[in-house]
Amino acid sequence: MSLLPSDGAFGSAQRQRIFQIIVLAISVVYVGRLAWLQIIQGSVYKLKAEAQAIKQIATEPFRGMIYDRNGRAIVQNAPGFSITVTPYEFTDESCRRLSKILGVPDSLIWQDVQKSAKFNKFAAAKLFYGRDVDFEVISAVEEQRDSLPGVDLIVDPKRQYAFDGNAAHLLGYTREVAEAQLKQLGDAYSPGDLTGQTGLERAYERNVRGIKGLQYVAVNKNGQRVASFNDGKSDVAGLEGDDLHLGIDTDLQELAEKLMGSARGSVVAIDPRNGEILCFVSKPDYDPRNFSGRGGRTYYNVVRDAPGIPLLNRATTGQYHPGSTWKPLMALMAMQEGIITPSTKLPCIGGYQYGNRFATCHGGVHGMIDYKTAIAVSCNSFFYQLGVKVGLEKFYYYGSLFGFGQKTGVDIGEEKRGLLPSREFMDKHVGKGNWTNYVLMNWGIGQGEVEVTPMQLAAYTAAISMNGLWNQPHAVREIYSKTLNKRIKVSYESREIPIRKEYFQVVKEAMRAVVTSGTARLVDLPGYDVCGKTGTADVRKGQPPQSWFICFAPMNDPKIAMVVTGEGAGYGAAFAAPIARKLLDLFFLKQWPADVARDTTWTRKPGITPAKSTPTDSMPQRKGPFAKPYAERPVATLPRPATPTTAQPSAPQR
Ligand SMILES: [Zn+2]
Repeated sequence: MSLLPSDGAFGSAQRQRIFQIIVLAISVVYVGRLAWLQIIQGSVYKLKAEAQAIKQIATEPFRGMIYDRNGRAIVQNAPGFSITVTPYEFTDESCRRLSKILGVPDSLIWQDVQKSAKFNKFAAAKLFYGRDVDFEVISAVEEQRDSLPGVDLIVDPKRQYAFDGNAAHLLGYTREVAEAQLKQLGDAYSPGDLTGQTGLERAYERNVRGIKGLQYVAVNKNGQRVASFNDGKSDVAGLEGDDLHLGIDTDLQELAEKLMGSARGSVVAIDPRNGEILCFVSKPDYDPRNFSGRGGRTYYNVVRDAPGIPLLNRATTGQYHPGSTWKPLMALMAMQEGIITPSTKLPCIGGYQYGNRFATCHGGVHGMIDYKTAIAVSCNSFFYQLGVKVGLEKFYYYGSLFGFGQKTGVDIGEEKRGLLPSREFMDKHVGKGNWTNYVLMNWGIGQGEVEVTPMQLAAYTAAISMNGLWNQPHAVREIYSKTLNKRIKVSYESREIPIRKEYFQVVKEAMRAVVTSGTARLVDLPGYDVCGKTGTADVRKGQPPQSWFICFAPMNDPKIAMVVTGEGAGYGAAFAAPIARKLLDLFFLKQWPADVARDTTWTRKPGITPAKSTPTDSMPQRKGPFAKPYAERPVATLPRPATPTTAQPSAPQR
């Protein structure tokens, strides 16, 4: 007996494929259960005979849940109902009535229906304005059923956020799949489906989206379901999306968002030992809740045009001069190149003369000063000199080693490279002969052409704390795969920066001195040996500077590395460092600051947690038209950052 039907047995190619997959899956697994096979075959033949009365409907899978590092569900699913429209059955009368029920002009409804018709006029697709409808709409649709051909209701889960914060740029949001995407993505989506647009919702879309199921239902003359078909035995179960387990500490996230308030800037904290992101804030932001369910389209327009560009992810795409936070790197390269030793002293006469130019030092005249003091008091003269002495090639080489000028490959949405200037860059953009090594003075203090993203700076701070171990930052640490029924660790890049460990130790001691006796004393948390560096980067003449603070702790057993920055927020010590202090208090001492309100009435709604099947080592059976072969499901691997240049540059200029 042939298990596959001959050509033309079932009207459409799609149905035939469905049949093939069902039969194939069954024949492999249920070899001994021919009787059941007969029933299925019988059903499908019956389906053909009652073509008008049986309809195939895709069922919505749950998107995967998102958990924080303590296993707290921060994104889950809530029940919802949405209206679907089958274009083939939809009439003018349906449109008029639906328009009244939903309070939406006919033309907008027709627009959506036509979009769906282009895709598949026989398939029920979600109507944008009929998403996540309330009880009144549901009962109106039910009451007028007979006059609403082609209109139906489906269970359509929506995202629910179970914490008091936004985590907007971390989580991202979902929106309706665009028409262009539909063509690319194939049968995994139909019009009206949601897809992750930014953040983790986008980066892990293929994991979290799940796989649609398929129901065969008996329908009335209007194409509306009246009963299940064949007691649901012919239905193909969907599969909920994979869960994401993050390194995020929700409390830290919540406090960081509150401390940043209305500022424009970012906070990124990383576990330096493995690159797991502990908190990730970009401000201003938006509330991802408003993208869930109804109103997502209008909310998008609101935030797109809002002041401060809330959609902009400043933590990964904001590019700024790093200012004095760059100085530890200058010291490391100069020591590794033998240009200075930890005890070398350089003069500060209130500035530094290079050729016919004189650049001033903020802190007055520091005299003969060693590098440790220079970092602690943030003497510019010392680092002007290091810039010039290190030279352009070595400057570029060591900057690359720390990942500057490249994407970190972090798994959160878009990312920019910042700017690590090279000779080629200067010749191309400034013009050969139009610049001199004077630029290196500015670069030595993290000004001029040098630009970094907060994410790059966080990874760099973490690498210093780990004596040169650079870990690729990542938000997701494990994926719970529903197809494999097990947790899969996300792999990430980890590399040793070829600079002697003792030099890192020297730099760490200097960053410790910044906190014990330098510009960031308010961050000194007794017992935790906090190391840090303030930065105040000039942006443009007349504009308030970029405020920076980088820190890590404890000095010799680092558990957190952090960057706090604010655009136009003034001195690093005034804006960024106090925020870092409060976050360190919470992280190490579990102390929530008394002056920051905490919404204790916030109810963490349970949401829907789909019942977990018993974990097994074997592959659960997947079947159905939406099922992808296992091989196509992505392996948990972060995009690789560009390999830093390892070619030895020409001899340093001494
Ligand atoms: Zn000085």
